[in-house]
Amino acid sequence: MKKGLLIVLSGPSGVGKGTVRKLVFEDESLNLAYSISMTTRSPRNGEEDGKDYFFVSKEYFEKAIENNELLEHARFVGNYYGTPKAYVEKLREEGKNVFLEIEVEGAKQVLSQYEEDDGVLSIFLLPPSLEELEKRIRGRRSEPEDIIQERLGKAKREMGLKDNYQYNLVNDSIESASEKIKNIIRSKIFARKDS
Ligand code: 5GP
Repeated sequence: MKKGLLIVLSGPSGVGKGTVRKLVFEDESLNLAYSISMTTRSPRNGEEDGKDYFFVSKEYFEKAIENNELLEHARFVGNYYGTPKAYVEKLREEGKNVFLEIEVEGAKQVLSQYEEDDGVLSIFLLPPSLEELEKRIRGRRSEPEDIIQERLGKAKREMGLKDNYQYNLVNDSIESASEKIKNIIRSKIFARKDS
């Protein structure tokens, strides 16, 4: 059996990565598995431990870094985020196409560890405009103004790194963005079957 793909999706905070990802996951033929990250951020309303994230303490996270248990990690607006390595590898060995939804610094670490023909796909999702992005971040209404400002600043810096990715897509509608992502994944699966 061929090892599963490693699919990396990034894009600024508020661009709609989570919503698009959920639509992509509805297509069971893609054989996807979501890589659940570890974070020191507190859960938002409705988020569940072990489903959206593994919510852990700073001490626990730092131990995981020390023990080399993370495929990548980064600090984002005052919190740690990271991808547990063993879980991702196990799923890929089982033939699952593993989907990482991570920010740019972590993505850079992941992409530097693999060659393109190691079955890696990288996609950067862009907002239709910065105004639209600000509206979406504010629309979430879950964070205080200073955090919103920090997330907006970070979003602008993140967009400067879009060229590190194989694909750049504009999230003008979630249906069209998710269709495009599904097609990209399908073609990659198909191309590898042939090789
Ligand atoms: P949020 O706090 O909005 O859930 O996530 C903040 C940012 O961290 C988002 O861009 C999200 O994609 C990213 N993120 C989530 N999990 C990880 C991870 O494991 N590693 C890295 N580097 N970024 C992550």
